[in-house]
Amino acid sequence: MTAFKNLGIADDLLQGIAALGFETPTPVQELVIPTALSTDDDIIALAQTGTGKTAAFGLPLLQRIDPSERGVQALIMCPTRELCVQVANDLVNYSHFAHQYKVVAVYGGAGIEGQIRQIRAGAQIVVATPGRLMDLMTRKAVRLDGVRRVVLDEADEMLNMGFKEAIDFILAAAENRESIWLFSATMPNEVRAIAADYMANPQELSTGKRNQTNENIEHIYYVCRADDRYATLKRVVDANPGIYALIFCRTKNETKEVAEQMIRDGYNSDALHGDLAQSDRDRVMQRFREGHLQLLIATDVAARGLDVSNISHVINYGLPDEVEVYTHRSGRTGRAGRTGVSISIVTPKFEERIRLIERKNKASFTKKTIPTGIEVCEQQLYHIVNNIHNQEVHHAEIEPYMARINEELKDLSKEELIKRFASVEFNRFLAYYRDAPDINVYPRGDKRGARTHNGQPAGQMARLFANIGDMDGVSKKDFIRLLSRTFGVPDRAIGHIDLNRAYMHFDLDAAYVNVVRQGLSEFTINGRRIRVDDASAPKEKRTKEDKFFEKFGKKKKGKKW
Ligand code: AMP
Repeated sequence: MTAFKNLGIADDLLQGIAALGFETPTPVQELVIPTALSTDDDIIALAQTGTGKTAAFGLPLLQRIDPSERGVQALIMCPTRELCVQVANDLVNYSHFAHQYKVVAVYGGAGIEGQIRQIRAGAQIVVATPGRLMDLMTRKAVRLDGVRRVVLDEADEMLNMGFKEAIDFILAAAENRESIWLFSATMPNEVRAIAADYMANPQELSTGKRNQTNENIEHIYYVCRADDRYATLKRVVDANPGIYALIFCRTKNETKEVAEQMIRDGYNSDALHGDLAQSDRDRVMQRFREGHLQLLIATDVAARGLDVSNISHVINYGLPDEVEVYTHRSGRTGRAGRTGVSISIVTPKFEERIRLIERKNKASFTKKTIPTGIEVCEQQLYHIVNNIHNQEVHHAEIEPYMARINEELKDLSKEELIKRFASVEFNRFLAYYRDAPDINVYPRGDKRGARTHNGQPAGQMARLFANIGDMDGVSKKDFIRLLSRTFGVPDRAIGHIDLNRAYMHFDLDAAYVNVVRQGLSEFTINGRRIRVDDASAPKEKRTKEDKFFEKFGKKKKGKKW
């Protein structure tokens, strides 16, 4: 493996990045740094955020500044204010043990006068959003004729944001430049056009795979009905305890709605969108960055520039129209060598778009079934157990209370105690998910795609037998009413019912089978205890759900129907 030293980086900069914990160069650094240090060639580098691109251009840029020259020698253009601030900070950090060049960040949404003063006080490196830099140039507050190197960071994003005109204006003014280093996550024609217009024989450096999303990212999608998108989001979040996620919505309104609902449902979440004042956006981003918020629900535009390297999941609450936008979204996870998961929640008609993203990104997606209520409960239970196991104990502080605690709990066995501790949190999930239906959408022809008695598509259906019939004076309507009122089974979960004289067969959404089977077995009809059996599987076969509810399900007293 190549060391930073072998790439030609000066010792004082090496010290700076060592202090930041950079041990070995990332692939884009390995590719770009030697060329950028030793030639004046123009460079095009295909690199997503999170791949270490800032150091890939930042280190050679710093090393090639002339300390005796006081004017602006290097210009870095970034799409957002947040990225400008981040890049400027990174440069200062890299040069902690080296010469401290004057780095000034200028961007829109902040007072221009203060920025003008900073530039006048001396700026050797300017990090700017193109719009604000153009403003400063027209006010004659900054001169670019001494600029030797221009970096276009996230060029595709800048063009997406409509900065083409400003970039043209700026590149024309930086006419004495020796080279342009262009970094972009994707290579749409607009980026190619910039290269064609302003670069001469650029060196195209890429880590080998073009338009490919980061290999550390696993792409997963779930298919549900439009009405079940929020329920699916909840299941995905609940089935991943410890998740730290960025959830993308398509519009400001959708962002607000989803965030409001999540906050109401008790999730540690907040919204980030363009209707918020800049100060509120900064505050939300900071809370997320510092880990005080677990879920951030955002629009694409508002999330630009948010730099967090340990996001575990990106969730697409619906797919974006553009493949490039998907690439940017998913690139927020799996950063700095970590693995990440990009999840998409789609309705059936958008499955086609998944294929398109697969083709364009050469990434492969795995379709997964939406976790059942039981699976969610299981994940939560193991998470709780793990937390109990790893719980830090303040021995000295808890000691004075131990005698009383031991006294209170002395009649409980170890096994019983464990069950109770685990149940404190777990019961909340069990109460919510015990009767949760299957909300997957299955392809036509799949048995699980059966219709219910009222024509609605159903989840996975089970065929059941019950020893109740016409002779008991029971109608189909009575039966449906009983299931709905007594066990909370929605209409859509009940399928076809065949009522015979002494018995009946009926289809029921698998998620309700155990509740109904156990519940009905506690009723009697005309002196007989009601018995429900699986009509399609061998009797002895106990499902995972059976075992689960046998362990955790509540017992009811016998009742008469
Ligand atoms: P960037 O793509 O420049 O935004 O970098 C993404 C993250 O990776 C940042 O948090 C950097 O501090 C970190 N990083 C960059 N290069 C390295 C490296 N060679 N070793 C370890 N971390 C790095």
